[in-house]
Amino acid sequence: MKIHEYQAKELFKEFGIVTTDGEAVSTAEEAVKAAEGMGLPVVIKAQVHVGGRGKAGGVKVVTEAAEVRPTAEKILGLTIKGLPVRKLLVTPAVDIAKEVYLSILVDRGARTVVFIGCADGGVEIEETAKTAPEKILRLEVKASELTRLPLDQLRDFAAKLFTGESQVNEAADMMARMGKLFREKDCSLVEINPLVVDGAGKVVALDAKVLLDDNALPNHPELEPLRDMDSEDEDELKAKDAGLSFIRLDGDIGCMVNGAGLAMATMDTIKHFGGDPANFLDVGGSSDPKKVVTAFQTILKDPNVKVILINIFGGITRCDDIAKGILASLEQLDVAVPIVIRLIGTNQEEGRKLLEGTKLIGANTLEEGATKAAKIGGAA
Ligand code: GDP
Ligand code: MN
Repeated sequence: MKIHEYQAKELFKEFGIVTTDGEAVSTAEEAVKAAEGMGLPVVIKAQVHVGGRGKAGGVKVVTEAAEVRPTAEKILGLTIKGLPVRKLLVTPAVDIAKEVYLSILVDRGARTVVFIGCADGGVEIEETAKTAPEKILRLEVKASELTRLPLDQLRDFAAKLFTGESQVNEAADMMARMGKLFREKDCSLVEINPLVVDGAGKVVALDAKVLLDDNALPNHPELEPLRDMDSEDEDELKAKDAGLSFIRLDGDIGCMVNGAGLAMATMDTIKHFGGDPANFLDVGGSSDPKKVVTAFQTILKDPNVKVILINIFGGITRCDDIAKGILASLEQLDVAVPIVIRLIGTNQEEGRKLLEGTKLIGANTLEEGATKAAKIGGAA
């Protein structure tokens, strides 16, 4: 689950991570009041669940009282990376002497938790990772030690980011607190960019990004109110209501699979054959043809989808029911992209018969289906 910067900063305060005070507002009127309360200059920041708000005009330092209202109105009128701005964070502006990047996250590839640091903060870390990967520093830590990380180790790492002794100590203390927050709230990411040295030489978190592990949320009823329904992916929510598990990805091959394990295997196989999945979609174990229609609708909404790969291994799910769902979809929806289908298991003959005469591209194995889809998808 993603949360907003202002909520992440509340969590920071709870764990003693030094950050700025601020007020979350939803109108320009409230922004003016908040700014009057804290005194100028202030920073007005769009609260949306994406990074790069600064570049998109969603973060503005305001020095003149008369500028607060128009600036707030302007930011409230923005749509950043597809997300309309509905809330603002108004916070006292900080003088920046130095900007650093610091985060802690689960590194799935390395199967560990790791601190990532970069002495050049403020800019997008993905850019730096591409242009100057040697500047990205790592400190792997044991997940079991997150609440009692050895301070000298943290200090050595902090010393690569900051020069002054007091800043190194403050940053190391902050890392220890980030580790606690990460562990106690079951985060998958705690990111501060920029972490700055302010005019008085203090280390302060100016931005805050926290990702919470959805699978651990049942253990944290206190975090549930942080969910912002307005900011959740509408298609993912709709799919959930319809009994589908759907997760959007970046590729161009729409996937429709029965069973989470098979869906994962399908995505792996697509990747293996050079393709790129556009989504994870598990239509579930039942065989309600209506679900198939909803699945098609969900997949087709994504303009990146160039081909759909249907991979059904019928057990409880009956292939003829899936076929009926596909026929209904072809009838009701405007399906302009090619469909590759592998349909085996319970009632496969009945299913295949129903689909005779359609334009579907058949495949006998997952390998064959993935290869065909990858070719159409046009990936490497
Ligand atoms: P992001 O672009 O979504 O990551 O939003 P940030 O919170 O990181 O803000 C973007 C940039 O705005 C930062 O990198 C800073 O350079 C600048 N900024 C944010 N807050 C302040 C502040 O209090 N004072 C000053 N001078 N600049 C700020
Ligand atoms: Mn930032």
